[in-house]
Amino acid sequence: SAALYVVPTPLGNMADLTRRAEEVLRRVPWVAAEDTRHSGPMLKQLGSSARTLPAHQHNEHEAAARIVERLQAGEAVALISDAGTPGISDPGARVVAAVRAAGCKVVPLPGPCAATTALSASGLLDEHFLFYGFLPSKGGQRRQVLEGLREHPYALVFYEAPHRVLETVADLATVFGERTLVIGRELTKMFESIHSCPLGEALDWLKGDPNRQRGEFVLMVSGAPADADDGEGERVLKLLLADGL
Ligand code: SAM
Repeated sequence: SAALYVVPTPLGNMADLTRRAEEVLRRVPWVAAEDTRHSGPMLKQLGSSARTLPAHQHNEHEAAARIVERLQAGEAVALISDAGTPGISDPGARVVAAVRAAGCKVVPLPGPCAATTALSASGLLDEHFLFYGFLPSKGGQRRQVLEGLREHPYALVFYEAPHRVLETVADLATVFGERTLVIGRELTKMFESIHSCPLGEALDWLKGDPNRQRGEFVLMVSGAPADADDGEGERVLKLLLADGL
């Protein structure tokens, strides 16, 4: 029966397209793509003769309606984004919601995702993680969000673009102080690098070589230590006592 297939695509290395993803993209009559020009060459390379329809953040409602129409006509649709898993810091959630609301089937395929790829090589020992994705681009809002995450006990996972990586890492250092930062850059690509250091040294490391500021980034910060609350309470108490209160 007709279904919406949610299909992750490679982050930079075509060999990471799963066999199942390849099969689905070859077989479906329709591919809903974030950027049809970007995805066209990949589909062609796979020998897919699917017709494409655009599904990006500015037309998701309309795209969703078109996709539901196709499904109700009995035609399968694959949903892809430019890279990685649709719906993860990418458009897709609205389409999926509309398809499910219309009573049509949604079939998710496992596959590439920058967050899980980066975490798997982070060496962070936190048992849990919180995926945040992109922080606000404005400094004030960004610091406010980070302040809100300061006592969070899970490893924190952020996505960042190259032109903001310095200011974001500076803010991470200000808010999270002594913790460990792991920088996953250009994962699965030619210049992949994974660097781990205390947050206090991260900015100098990035500035040490302009190449370290290029490409795509996943920033991971270890979670607040379990005793952070006690430490903070003690610190506040000492300050109050020192003030003679
Ligand atoms: N949907 C994608 C996923 O499943 O990971 C994420 C799309 S989001 C628009 C793009 C961001 O993902 C980049 O700014 C970067 O933070 C991260 N990213 C994507 N590819 C990456 C790569 N090869 N290496 C490191 N980070 C990457």
